[in-house]
Amino acid sequence: MNKKYNFYAGPAILPLEVIKKAQEELLNLNGIGLSILEISHRSKDFDDIINTAKDKIRNILNIPDNYSILFLQGGASFQFAMIPMNLLKGGKADYINTGEWAKKAIKEAKLFGDVNIAGSSEDKNFNYIPENLSLSSDASYVHLTSNETIGGIQWSEFPDTGDVPLIADMSSEICSRRIDVSKFGLIYAGAQKNIGPSGVTLVIIRDDLIEKGADNLATMLKYKTHAEKNSMFNTPPCFAIYIIKLVMEWIETKGGITALEDINEEKAKILYNLIDKSNLYRGTAEIKDRSRMNVTFRLSTEELENKFLQETVKQGFLGLKGHRSVGGCRASIYNAMPIEYVNKLADFMENFENHNT
Ligand SMILES: *Cc1c(COP(=O)(O)O)cnc(C)c1O
Repeated sequence: MNKKYNFYAGPAILPLEVIKKAQEELLNLNGIGLSILEISHRSKDFDDIINTAKDKIRNILNIPDNYSILFLQGGASFQFAMIPMNLLKGGKADYINTGEWAKKAIKEAKLFGDVNIAGSSEDKNFNYIPENLSLSSDASYVHLTSNETIGGIQWSEFPDTGDVPLIADMSSEICSRRIDVSKFGLIYAGAQKNIGPSGVTLVIIRDDLIEKGADNLATMLKYKTHAEKNSMFNTPPCFAIYIIKLVMEWIETKGGITALEDINEEKAKILYNLIDKSNLYRGTAEIKDRSRMNVTFRLSTEELENKFLQETVKQGFLGLKGHRSVGGCRASIYNAMPIEYVNKLADFMENFENHNT
């Protein structure tokens, strides 16, 4: 098996075990004689898959009973609109502007009500998480991006928003560390970074917020529609949900969230330690807010940066070029990224530094 090292930001690496299992089962799911790609979403077999996926997510993330787990389409980007459509309703919401993804969420929210920017790190090119927030007591909710995939910054502790529901875009970190779900009103995540392929978005929503959703929306745009029909009001992305189920099984065999959190911490440390003692590489995020999922860095000159990126591709390290909007380099080291790959990248980076300084 000649697999390259996948450092892409998304769609991203999946556990090899999961891909193999999907391959094994592709022609014949559980001995039923049909493929997951061709069975009815109304069949008992698919029902088992979606319910198992949900049960495992609930267990793994320790999600309280008064929250629903939904599998929706349209990506995390659609949630940027669906959230204010359902919950803002012409009122006011607090948004924290931490980067490219937060900005996109803000843009959509403005179509549906007043947006108060309760904190921003735009002054320093989004290289930190703002601390002194000016939250409004009359906000319908507070929205933040828990991990900014492009800038490489991550919230370590979440703000206390009292009775105002806290909503988080966790697309690029879901299931990578322990979180207290009860502190949030809604959590959403496009699956394609940490828990599956593209095509499905996980939404964890507190039941009172489902009820509060606006009534005057098209059926498909209401959380209520999807919650009442177990995410099967219409045909769901069956294959993507099936892969999520396999990824959840994989997380269980790895020892659950606590074990993953430890290893993710360790992986990030390997790269940040190297960057910190280097004269060639420079981390772009403030140390206290560095992401454990997306390690962003620059090299001392543009020329060396280009040489470095070309060399990585030759060595089989794919996806290290930073996002087109910010440039630089980025190593995305999601849950499925084995520590051995991170060590290999670190060895390569050290070697490159020794030969180029
Ligand atoms: C990738 C990403 C998105 C966009 O997800 P889509 O599923 O492509 O819409 C949104 N937010 C964050 C934080 C992301 O990393």
